[in-house]
Amino acid sequence: MKYNITRDYIGIGNSRSGQKNNGIEFIVSHDTGNAGSTAYGNRNYFENTNPTASAHTFIDDKYILEIIPLDEKAWHVRYNVSSDNSRYGADANDAAIGVELCWGGRINFEESYDRYVWYHAYLVDQFGLDPKRDIVAHSTLDPSRRSDPQNAMNRYGISWNDFINDVNQAYRKYFQGEEDLPEPVVKGASVQLPVGRGDEGAFVREIQRDLISAGFSLPQFGADGMFGSETERAVMRFQKRYNLAVDGLVGPQTLGTLKEVNNGDRPVNEFPLPRGVLQNGDEGNSVKQVQRALKRLGYDPEYIDGKYGSLTEDAVKRFQSMYQELANDGIYGPNTKRFMEMELEDL
Ligand SMILES: [Zn+2]
Repeated sequence: MKYNITRDYIGIGNSRSGQKNNGIEFIVSHDTGNAGSTAYGNRNYFENTNPTASAHTFIDDKYILEIIPLDEKAWHVRYNVSSDNSRYGADANDAAIGVELCWGGRINFEESYDRYVWYHAYLVDQFGLDPKRDIVAHSTLDPSRRSDPQNAMNRYGISWNDFINDVNQAYRKYFQGEEDLPEPVVKGASVQLPVGRGDEGAFVREIQRDLISAGFSLPQFGADGMFGSETERAVMRFQKRYNLAVDGLVGPQTLGTLKEVNNGDRPVNEFPLPRGVLQNGDEGNSVKQVQRALKRLGYDPEYIDGKYGSLTEDAVKRFQSMYQELANDGIYGPNTKRFMEMELEDL
């Protein structure tokens, strides 16, 4: 075995019911949605706070950590979504292993991803699955609420198809004995971000193709692999449209958003948040934007009327009270915007 699997199970409770599953039919791939949180950090969280949610396995750059035995149920996909039933004839919690990718912060993504790929191949082997058919993204099962694991992978230049191909290859190499197959390559790691004016190559061409398919055309030069002023202007238009810092450079944020848009994980910028400060008494479209986002996040201001009155102020306060870092003043400003955007991204 290329990697060791650590089995360190949490106690029976809300997160681990102890109920046996009905045999394993498929795998649901997740990411933790929480940059920098490690495999053991997650285990500690589930063990100590015992939420009614869980997954079998957490993977970072050091551990492949199973916290729930693979013959027991874990709570990693809502029962009321139906796409698991229509695809596999079963609810994911009853018939699938949930695997979580840890990323960001101090986690070495290349190491973490390599383990994640290998472990999927291991499960494919253990349960006699088909890598192309029997691995599904959480975002595919629950698209209105989830964007994992593409949200994490796309930051590193890896698409869902890249991932499935990597698993397939790892399965053949490590479990079918086709030893001359190359190691999976983490595409994003060989390219130094940000990419900008003057850069060229295959990666630039990929960005240009992504821009074009996202609707930001390059009429003069097309996807020629050269990052010139036309590409730069298209990147800036893209950044403006998706509320990113407008600098014409493709860094992790812009690249991640571009991949999300093209994967359909982010079909439209539904909840762009305005810049500046808004407070009780303000009116206009920017207030409406804030109200829509609040409603989407579950802090309902009751009316989407563009009027920043006491109901909107209360909703902002309720949101702010969830974060120690935010003043609980009911005033919408850059910090509140930043935290709202983080929560919107996690939906
Ligand atoms: Zn998930």
